[in-house]
Amino acid sequence: MKREQQTECKRCGICCQKGGPALHGQDLALVRGGQLPLGDLITIRRGELAYNPLSDRIEPVLAELVKIRGTGQEWCCCYYDPASKGCSIYGNRPMACGVLKCWQPEETLALVGQDLLRRLDILQEGDPLRPLVLEYELACPGPDMGEVEKSLAGQDESVLRALENQVNIDIAFRNRVVQAYNLSLANELFLFGRPLFQLLQALGVVVSESPQGLRLTIRKKFPSPNRGGRVRR
Ligand code: SF4
Ligand code: SF4
Repeated sequence: MKREQQTECKRCGICCQKGGPALHGQDLALVRGGQLPLGDLITIRRGELAYNPLSDRIEPVLAELVKIRGTGQEWCCCYYDPASKGCSIYGNRPMACGVLKCWQPEETLALVGQDLLRRLDILQEGDPLRPLVLEYELACPGPDMGEVEKSLAGQDESVLRALENQVNIDIAFRNRVVQAYNLSLANELFLFGRPLFQLLQALGVVVSESPQGLRLTIRKKFPSPNRGGRVRR
């Protein structure tokens, strides 16, 4: 069937398999009410590369967003039920899922970058986790990964060593806080997003362990522009 003839959802599940949605202001009640627990959320920090449906390109995100996490190593929404090809939290699904009509994307496109929930919108004043987010942003500000990608293309050793330093600061911060607060990996991904070394791996940087900490080297050949899967906005 041609796309222009489609008038309703065919329940193919492709949109959910492409990744969970970003959360918007309207979804705050679901998070506060526990229907969307923090462990099922992941933060995409400003500067990370993600697919922008408005430009149809993978670009650094201009503002932090919090989205539903994927499943395992995939971006497929953690609430997608492959057996029924349906949503396991249908009645409590985020606002962006409710308006999604793949055959008529205008409403979804209008949401891109608008009224996005950030970590500090979700963590209320007095929440002991809130200062950790602020501390992390000071200690490990997220680089513009578009610029990082360009600088890596020059295969300059000093660029790599500077990134290596940042990667090890990032990991040391996480290790300390995870231990001190007994955080799960899921909560870590909400509080701090993905570690810098993982973002670099998606750009073709090889990460290995050494007695001095994580060591970075550059692959001779860069991966395809898809770089480990699209992050849906
Ligand atoms: S909105 Fe479109 S992609 Fe998503 S399940 Fe329905 S038909 Fe499939
Ligand atoms: S929350 Fe439900 S509807 Fe939304 S992407 Fe996940 S599985 Fe699909």
